[in-house]
Amino acid sequence: MENIAPIFIDGKWEKIKTDNFNKVYNPASEEVISMTPICGKNEVERAVESSLKAFKVWSKFSYVKRAEILFNYRELIKINKEKIAKIISLENGKTLPEARGDIQRGFEVVDFACGILHLAKGESLPEIAPNIDSRTNLEPLGVCAGISPFNFPAMVPMWMFPIAIACGNSFILKPSEKVPLTAIKLAELFQEAGLPDGVLNIIHGGKEVVDSLCIHPKISAISFVGSSHIAKHVYTLGAKHGKRVQAGGAAKNALVVMPDAEPKSTMNSIMSSAFGCAGQRCMAGSLLVGVGKNIDSLKQTLIDRSNKLVVGDPIKNTSTEMGPVIDGNSKERIFNIIDGLGGSGAKVIRDGREIKNKEGFFVGPTLVDNVDPNQPIFSQEIFGPVLSILNPKDIEETVEILNKLKYGNGATLFTSSGNTARFFSENIKCGMVGINVGVPAPMSIYPFTGWNDSFYGDLHMQGKEGVQFYTRQKVILSRWDNLYEYKSGW
Ligand code: NAD
Repeated sequence: MENIAPIFIDGKWEKIKTDNFNKVYNPASEEVISMTPICGKNEVERAVESSLKAFKVWSKFSYVKRAEILFNYRELIKINKEKIAKIISLENGKTLPEARGDIQRGFEVVDFACGILHLAKGESLPEIAPNIDSRTNLEPLGVCAGISPFNFPAMVPMWMFPIAIACGNSFILKPSEKVPLTAIKLAELFQEAGLPDGVLNIIHGGKEVVDSLCIHPKISAISFVGSSHIAKHVYTLGAKHGKRVQAGGAAKNALVVMPDAEPKSTMNSIMSSAFGCAGQRCMAGSLLVGVGKNIDSLKQTLIDRSNKLVVGDPIKNTSTEMGPVIDGNSKERIFNIIDGLGGSGAKVIRDGREIKNKEGFFVGPTLVDNVDPNQPIFSQEIFGPVLSILNPKDIEETVEILNKLKYGNGATLFTSSGNTARFFSENIKCGMVGINVGVPAPMSIYPFTGWNDSFYGDLHMQGKEGVQFYTRQKVILSRWDNLYEYKSGW
């Protein structure tokens, strides 16, 4: 078969022999564009063997030499950004501007990784005791593995491998079987940048591969991003087998609108947070909290704006504002959730099931009113373009309600009051807070700080925490007594 996604082991691209494949769709047309082979233990073993061999060499490269390759990589991504964005859009279905944002965020991590020696230099204190100097070394761990979801084919894997590799580790990436093509392009460019064979390996697959990585005795650390029940499973299994694990999970993020919010920019932010990437972002706003009286005009504007949103094929029509969801299962799942709302008290005031597109996994923007914290839709992650609306009386009640959510990625407040902003950011229980920012996703120098069931582990991805995750500290104490006598005689 021509369009089988290759694996990448020891610097070689291979099409493996198997009958077990996952179809990769263009979600806008339902056309099958590639087949992802589902690897097994054999490919895991080969990838680990290659990574171990590469680690021995790569970990001895100087930081400057590693930076040189990372700078080459940075340049190649810059040159190929548009090509990568098109691959993302094709296999994921997001619009081209969204796909450009996806690779841009990944690019910024490579940027960060180019200067990683500033964070990896450790600390030193001379004369910590008489004639004793102390310093810390931050040493790479060895072979690290990363497992990523479908929704950010570039950004999420790039939260992981550029930092791990810049710190001197070798890395095995298992991208989502739904979007393997972006990861392949990213690895091709890294190879072209001069990365030695085996420092980055790519294998494909599902549970069998993921579990094998989590229990493999020669793998030191696992980075995972995906749904919460699998994040928890990966965290538990990896930790039980002595590994460091960081595992990002699902989310339910609120957009809180105060009566004093600036209407135009607030509405633009709500639309892009709720319906950007067809709602398939772990930082998507999926709860709209209109605080106080008079939210009727807010709802009406939302209905009007949603009716005008251009939903369609992001490649054929460049004016598309919202693309499809990832596959038929996802579309059916979202439709079922909306179908099941009857009798719960919640009311669909704009129905995304009434979508006209005949082909493609499309769901239109959906607005659900009269939502309260006792309904399942309040807390479940839908991962589609569905915005639920609540109407508490004040900011205190809002915070009390939102703090009942089991997830803890992000929450945003729209206001013109510094006092309300301060109250909200201090009392809301989640890791990323936006004040008049619809998607408060941190940039590469900061960690992506999910809380509660949105994250399992101690050290988050990106930023300083990313460097700490992929290195371990060694404290070196040296004693040199002042007994040195210059001996003449050269
Ligand atoms: P998913 O959990 O279905 O898949 C994620 C990865 O796990 C994939 O590589 C997949 O192959 C693998 N996998 C699937 N089933 C498995 C199993 N039974 N055992 C072990 N591994 C398995 O997630 P998805 O649908 O690809 O992505 C969407 C989810 O990711 C959403 O819940 C979203 O909120 C979350 N997400 C979280 C963050 C974050 O930072 N917290 C970022 C992006 C996406």
